[in-house]
Amino acid sequence: MSSTDNPRLRIAIQKSGRLSDESQSLFKRCGLKINLADRKLLAHVANMPIELMLVRSSDIPGLVMDGVCDLGIVGDNTLEEHALERQLMGESADFNKVCSLKFGGCRLSIALPEEVDYQGISSLDGLRIATTYPRLLNRFGDQHGIKFELCKLNGSVEVAPRVGLADGICDLVSTGTTLEANGLKEVEQIYTSKAALIQAKHPLTEQKQQTLNTLLPRIQGVLKARESKYIMLHAPKDKLHDVVALMPGSETPTVLPLAERDDRVAVHVVSTETFFWETMEQLKELGCNSILVMPIEKMMG
Ligand code: ATP
Repeated sequence: MSSTDNPRLRIAIQKSGRLSDESQSLFKRCGLKINLADRKLLAHVANMPIELMLVRSSDIPGLVMDGVCDLGIVGDNTLEEHALERQLMGESADFNKVCSLKFGGCRLSIALPEEVDYQGISSLDGLRIATTYPRLLNRFGDQHGIKFELCKLNGSVEVAPRVGLADGICDLVSTGTTLEANGLKEVEQIYTSKAALIQAKHPLTEQKQQTLNTLLPRIQGVLKARESKYIMLHAPKDKLHDVVALMPGSETPTVLPLAERDDRVAVHVVSTETFFWETMEQLKELGCNSILVMPIEKMMG
């Protein structure tokens, strides 16, 4: 059944790998009851007309661009590589990026053996580079007027220089420990990526559109809640202005009286930015106490 005559909104997510847990947890936090017990290709959502298609990450851009799925969660790197490939083949690569999801962050970088004396981008000209992302690498080469000899690998890219397959690699990096463990150093960062929610270009039926209209604010709510904190503290009344100024991205605070204390108040605030230990220390210096920073599960409005 193609996505257009299926009453359920079909969303492609990675079956297993770096994006799968976060993708599933995003939907669970949006209130979707997902039946993943038997790990089939399609997992129905019990309480909404949605089905999740569990596939390889690299298949997701094509499934959305060809209209087999209405939505998908995929890394920008996979999406961009696939779109470039389609463009080069003269095929359409249509999709809408609904939003960036703030997980799956990584960078695509060129790395060379540690002993190489790297002299800048031009010294990469003519090198044999192993990568899963030949289109993104070639685009970088074109932008800098250099050419690579490509060695396309779908896995274990980092061992290519050691076994004599390539001079260097172009691969995804998040912490850099895999590179280090393989005696490689990062010399050029060519692309930065995060997971994204993408949508097919085809128009949705009214029912699917309604489902999407319910789902999207929930996704935004989960993303916003993830970064936000609920902060409660007791503050000296005469320092209230300075205290509120220290709270990053906070909305209008709630100020409440404290029993049998005229000089102090309770302040409750939702802060939409990272709340650092340093800020707590500064608040303490202003005379605040009972400072509590709590996670927020859901947010709307
Ligand atoms: P497939 O599901 O097609 O096998 P894959 O081999 O790219 O995909 P993963 O290694 O699980 O699968 O990576 C999935 C995505 O996770 C990447 O495309 C990228 O967007 C993101 N990612 C985040 N950090 C990293 C990292 N350090 N290394 C690789 N991918 C990362």
